Amino acid sequence: MHGGKGKRAAIIYFPGRVSRVKIEAALDSALGTLSWEPTLWFATTPEETGGLQALRAVAQNATHILVAGGDGTVREVLDALAREEITNVTVGIIPSGTGNVLARNLKLELNNVSTAVKRGLLGNRYQIDLGLAKVIYPNGDRAELYFSVMAGLGLDAKIMQNTSKRLKKAIGWVAYIDGGLRALPTLFEKMLVTVDSKEPRKLKLVSLLIGNAGWLPGNISLMPDAKLDDGLLDVAAVGPRRFWNWIDFWGRVAFANENIRPNRIGRQLMDATANVKTLENLTGAKIRVMPEREVHLQLDGDAIGLVTEAQFEVVPKAITFRL
Ligand SMILES: [Mg+2]
Repeated sequence: MHGGKGKRAAIIYFPGRVSRVKIEAALDSALGTLSWEPTLWFATTPEETGGLQALRAVAQNATHILVAGGDGTVREVLDALAREEITNVTVGIIPSGTGNVLARNLKLELNNVSTAVKRGLLGNRYQIDLGLAKVIYPNGDRAELYFSVMAGLGLDAKIMQNTSKRLKKAIGWVAYIDGGLRALPTLFEKMLVTVDSKEPRKLKLVSLLIGNAGWLPGNISLMPDAKLDDGLLDVAAVGPRRFWNWIDFWGRVAFANENIRPNRIGRQLMDATANVKTLENLTGAKIRVMPEREVHLQLDGDAIGLVTEAQFEVVPKAITFRL
């Protein structure tokens, strides 16, 4: 009705991952004669990885934020918006990482900038939940951090902690395996897990995964029942006997992602994912984890460091995407 009056796009981009020229062309094509306010551009830096850029965009009246980056950049942006309770902007993703885990869960096309820009600006609104991790570090400090897809406590997080950022960016999932082998030998962890007000359960495991969404590297779902908008978190455990299968799983995911079209390797990967089981009756809105000793934590693939305790809560419909 108003030809886009008052609407303003902001592009938060990881320089070098995606061509700014390509995004500019896609913007011109998507917005055409709509008279939106001039687009804002924010490059991420090693010191400012996306969150501050999102807040600056909002301060400059952005109404539509597009994130051109990987899972790390997306997590930073969503964390900043959720933390400040900013609900009057929508978010779109121009998938530009090596994992693109949230983009996959949103069923976005991975290699089409023009479609990504168009959908991110003009697509239908879709609200998703976020997970909120409330953690206690070994020195007693506390922090609250948001995630969109999955948190992991234990070996998976240790692997990411031990993987160099440069390597992770250059070769994606493969780097995780390299880091994993360096982190060996692994001790199994004991954790006391409490879901909502149910009886606490003591688990012996390699990794405890808290999912807000099913996870689809190579088109495979780790948690088939987990959904981005159901107001619930799902818990899955990788047990001691499943350890070597787990390493094998990561290796095959890496291989599928880098070399083979997902649908061709899908059947083989299904065998490996059968070794990661969702724990029965461990789905809820609040999950408290007390490890017997400090363990590593990762959120959407970002290594957070060691924690002595973590509570995970779902924040329903925290972010509005355009798809
Ligand atoms: Mg969910």
